[in-house]
Amino acid sequence: MDGKLLEILVCPSCHGSLQWAPGRQMLLCPAERLGYPVVDGIAHLLEEEAIAVPEIGVANVNTDA
Ligand SMILES: [Zn+2]
Repeated sequence: MDGKLLEILVCPSCHGSLQWAPGRQMLLCPAERLGYPVVDGIAHLLEEEAIAVPEIGVANVNTDA
């Protein structure tokens, strides 16, 4: 995932910054605990494709195995 690209990606729901979670192949919105799937390198930043990821938080977003 391109770091510069990630800088301009924001959550389509709350417009907060997203975090890339390599272990999940998802962009995560820690504020709302939602994940947006990335398929073949293309982020699906659509509210209707958001997946609830209740276990994530701001502090541990990148600690998934
Ligand atoms: Zn959000």
